[in-house]
Amino acid sequence: MVVEGAGPSCGLIDGFGRHVTYLRLSVTDRCDLRCVYCMSEDMSFRSRRDILTLEELTRLARLFIARGIDKLRITGGEPLVRPGILDLFAALSEPIADGSLRELTLTTNGTQLARFAEDLARAGVRRINVSLDTLDPERFRALTRGGSLARVMDGIAAARAAGLTVKLNVVALKDGTEHEIHDLIAFAHAREMALSLIETMPLGDVGVDRVDQYLPLDSLRRQIAGRWTLHDVPMRSGGPARYARVAETGGLIEFITPHTHNFCADCNRVRVTASGTLHTCLGQDDATDLKAHLRTSATDDVIVRLIDQALGRKPKGHDFILRRGASPQLARHMSETGG
Ligand code: SAM
Ligand code: SF4
Repeated sequence: MVVEGAGPSCGLIDGFGRHVTYLRLSVTDRCDLRCVYCMSEDMSFRSRRDILTLEELTRLARLFIARGIDKLRITGGEPLVRPGILDLFAALSEPIADGSLRELTLTTNGTQLARFAEDLARAGVRRINVSLDTLDPERFRALTRGGSLARVMDGIAAARAAGLTVKLNVVALKDGTEHEIHDLIAFAHAREMALSLIETMPLGDVGVDRVDQYLPLDSLRRQIAGRWTLHDVPMRSGGPARYARVAETGGLIEFITPHTHNFCADCNRVRVTASGTLHTCLGQDDATDLKAHLRTSATDDVIVRLIDQALGRKPKGHDFILRRGASPQLARHMSETGG
């Protein structure tokens, strides 16, 4: 279905009238960690020739920006392990400087941040999300299958020193997050970092039953409210998040609840994988191959038309279901789609 009235002048509008202004662009499916909710122990990755070049990524990003995307999140896999990644940020600093892109940001596991934080700030990045599920080095090593918490802590410190606003992403995990949640809030808010709590989603086979990992945020929120005073904040980000301020710290907690509450009606985002597939919904199988067209002599107009047509097919919403013993709802891992 192509949306009537939609065209370059009115930005990207899907078949349900939702304005899409936010692109998450994955630059690699590879990563230096193997988080237990994201990847299986022995992942196979795409061949290098399947992955968009930095030039192709830049062209695609510019086309989306020309079509009305004003927030761009670089993600992965781990975006900072992509060779030459700073060249992409440098190219994208232009639309930031001329105002056609309102926000350029990234989600990272933090392992490479000590190296990159200053350059990212110079490219016009102002805010980043760093994934940090635990403050315990042993648990961090177990959850990431071998990662170093100290390294991520150094990365967070470097990001803050470079003037970046950091938000911590915490995937809520049964038999773990409950024991640390108060410490995570105190840690984040003492450093003026917001905390984003995320329900685990059934994307890809990770070698364990998702039911054993899943911790509903309704119950975690009740636990938090037993210790801290939470005031709802009517902030909206056009995504699945709801916000509360902690009276004692003044800091924010974001609750991302694809299972306990589904906020697809407000969805303002699409995703492009590192191999150039456009997914208009994180939780559905819809897919449009843009790479094939980027690699033929397709003009910008042809690619923009494909994007518009894909937007017209954007599903109404996801319907994640967690059932013991069920195979993953979607075969693709979060590291493939880009978080
Ligand atoms: N490597 C970077 C990182 O970890 O921040 C960026 C990519 S990662 C796929 C993006 C976000 O997705 C991270 O915050 C991660 O915790 C989250 N994530 C990964 N798998 C998930 C899952 N199955 N359910 C919910 N969140 C997940
Ligand atoms: Fe890597 Fe991020 Fe997935 Fe962890 S969540 S395995 S850091 S891509």
